[in-house]
Amino acid sequence: MGLPETSVREARVRVQSAIEHAGGEFPLGRIAINLAPANIPKYGSGFDLPVAMSLMVAAEQIEAQSIHGWMFLGELALDGRLRGVKGLLSAAQAAQTRGIKNILIPKENMKEAAWLKNMNVYPAEHLAEVIHHFIGVKDKQLSPMQTVVESVEDIFPVDLSDIRGHQFIKRGLEIMAAGGHHILLSGGPGTGKTMLAKSIPSILPRLNDAERFEVAQIRSLVSNTFEPNQLVRPFRAPHHSCSSAGLIGGGVGIARPGEVTLAHHGVLFLDELTEFHRRTLEVLRQPLESGQVVLARSRHHVSFPASFQIVGAMNPCPCGYLGDPRRSCVCGQHQIKAYQSCLSGPLLDRIDLFAGVPPVSIQMLTQNDHVETSVVVRKRVEAARDFMRQRDQINVNAQLQFKDLQSHEHIDAEAYKVFVAYAERFQLGGRSSLKILRMARTIADLALSQRINMSHIREAFAYRMESSGLQSQLTGLK
Ligand SMILES: [Zn+2]
Repeated sequence: MGLPETSVREARVRVQSAIEHAGGEFPLGRIAINLAPANIPKYGSGFDLPVAMSLMVAAEQIEAQSIHGWMFLGELALDGRLRGVKGLLSAAQAAQTRGIKNILIPKENMKEAAWLKNMNVYPAEHLAEVIHHFIGVKDKQLSPMQTVVESVEDIFPVDLSDIRGHQFIKRGLEIMAAGGHHILLSGGPGTGKTMLAKSIPSILPRLNDAERFEVAQIRSLVSNTFEPNQLVRPFRAPHHSCSSAGLIGGGVGIARPGEVTLAHHGVLFLDELTEFHRRTLEVLRQPLESGQVVLARSRHHVSFPASFQIVGAMNPCPCGYLGDPRRSCVCGQHQIKAYQSCLSGPLLDRIDLFAGVPPVSIQMLTQNDHVETSVVVRKRVEAARDFMRQRDQINVNAQLQFKDLQSHEHIDAEAYKVFVAYAERFQLGGRSSLKILRMARTIADLALSQRINMSHIREAFAYRMESSGLQSQLTGLK
């Protein structure tokens, strides 16, 4: 009892068979197993081992005292072998907050268990080993594993130096990475939008230990086969046919994390942005505002962290060649307008930087200029983040408000005049103005400058006005 879902109820068969195969005695008679607290539904096969151990204690085959301060987690095969479970890291963390020091896990979960620094982690392969350990059989005692995650050099699929040309966009990505802004790339087919987007995790600041643990925790909910020391900032690219539930999380029964949670501390890449259903994208509003997702289930709520940066990509028009100097666009004005109006308004409101991706020319590809590697750019991004933390005790500039940014501590009087003049000339709305000031603040931080000056303002405007065929309505300029 206690709201067991199907896989938990099936435990009765697995547990009985496993105990018999492990040389234990399955108690006769009527058995009641209470999964408390009763108001929270129980999912998954991880209850098998704890149920088996409770039975062994109830049947007085194992002393109750010996399992005090232990947590057990694992699925049982019919022959008594232990199988890996999902969500080990979160379960272990919950155990830790209750003062539990020892945890017994299936061997299959060893890789991620290396994260559990302050616990004694005992991996086992078979229920028989576990029983022997707790009965106190000599020479058959389990020993705790080493829990150290060796840090290795981060490996990324795309390095900034793999991409030729595109200086303006690379700089835009640097600003985006430093300030925690969102970006929309617009360009025809084959211009390299996807490559550019994929390079972003390599220039974002390295994950700190707490962030890395969170990323590992989320990965542990969906798989138990990842390499913990190879975790970097995630890059998620859901297909445009993805459902709202796929994006935000949900599903029948247990709530599964969606793409926004899998992208936590990293990048959510929305390629072919105009192909996504408007209604699908609307669900992004909540996580973008609060950095988390709250899913209502029939009897309870589940919340997942979901703090990520959006990278959108789209063709500038249905044929893709609007603004291309070498091919002419065949779309009519009306078609272009209809195409761009497919974009979700609330999502567009969130975008800070707009950058047109021009076609790559032969000169760009054959140029042997010095190209910066991601490591170099990331150093600047990390320095800028340190700078903003010292200045305002904030993590990223995307959190700053107008009143903060208007003060003399933040902006030169001259620069502010230029900003106001531009804002009037382009009839900027409040939201666009704030975005430009935030971007300018990030640009100043990259230059380690206390105040925003005129050149920072000009550069920020460039990323608002750069439209390469994008209608000005998209960028908030009339
Ligand atoms: Zn076109």
